[in-house]
Amino acid sequence: MDHEVHELHEKYSEEIDCLLCANCCRSLGPAIYDKDVERMAKALRIKPSEVMEKYLRIDEDKDYVFKSMPCPFLMPDNYCQIYESRPKACREYPHTDRKRFVQIYNLTVKNTSTCPIAYEVMCELINK
Ligand code: SF4
Ligand code: SF4
Repeated sequence: MDHEVHELHEKYSEEIDCLLCANCCRSLGPAIYDKDVERMAKALRIKPSEVMEKYLRIDEDKDYVFKSMPCPFLMPDNYCQIYESRPKACREYPHTDRKRFVQIYNLTVKNTSTCPIAYEVMCELINK
């Protein structure tokens, strides 16, 4: 299944312009890990503790997430203020190029309500 899904991922990532969407940055809170905090702190030229204090909270799964959404780094033109240093989860969303896609099949079905790439990939996959 991976080969088919990855081809669809390439196709729809090229066709769909994330800068015209930004739904994920508006509505989903990515899990943020220590390495992400360090990278973000460097980009913002503040201490990791300040990143945590200013921007993060712990959610019900005990993960660090942004205090509020839309993301504080989403700019009015949908660009990400810390794009080169954004959290790993942001880089990987919507995960349709992941190995062993079958493991995240159900999550991707859920993501179709947020992400047009996930939606198109799943529609074409189901109709194949
Ligand atoms: S850090 Fe950047 S890519 Fe991640 S949610 Fe915020 S604006 Fe979007
Ligand atoms: S929701 Fe999907 S299409 Fe929209 S910005 Fe995020 S990754 Fe791109």
